Amino acid sequence: MSDCLFCKIAVGDIPSNKVYEDDEVLAFRDIAPKAPTHILIIPKKHIAALAEVTEEDACLMGKIQLLAKKLAEQEGIAESGYRLLTNSGPDSGQEVAHLHYHLIGGEKLGDIC
Ligand code: 5GP
Ligand code: ZN
Repeated sequence: MSDCLFCKIAVGDIPSNKVYEDDEVLAFRDIAPKAPTHILIIPKKHIAALAEVTEEDACLMGKIQLLAKKLAEQEGIAESGYRLLTNSGPDSGQEVAHLHYHLIGGEKLGDIC
């Protein structure tokens, strides 16, 4: 989608601090981190929110979960603990309408995102 911020990040039109990339998935650091580790994991294809995911996306969704686990290990927060969360739709406070998972950790977490 041409007017989607995370689609632009996915194709490199807007720069990001990348931590992982392959043909389907991109992980990059949040521009306004809420904790020492705050990474956003997105599918490269445009999906507006978790509410729009279909059965066809099952492999992609599994890949995102496993990537979150690996990135937590890479960041050194697997033992101390972390959160993986997504906002879907207006009541959640979702700001960017492109599916993304927040991987957050590195300190004791309160109410965030
Ligand atoms: P949401 O509220 O939609 O779940 O989260 C959107 C997240 O995207 C926020 O944590 C916000 O800081 C982050 N964000 C918004 N614009 C940019 C950007 O241009 N670059 C990066 N790296 N993160 C962004
Ligand atoms: Zn998009």
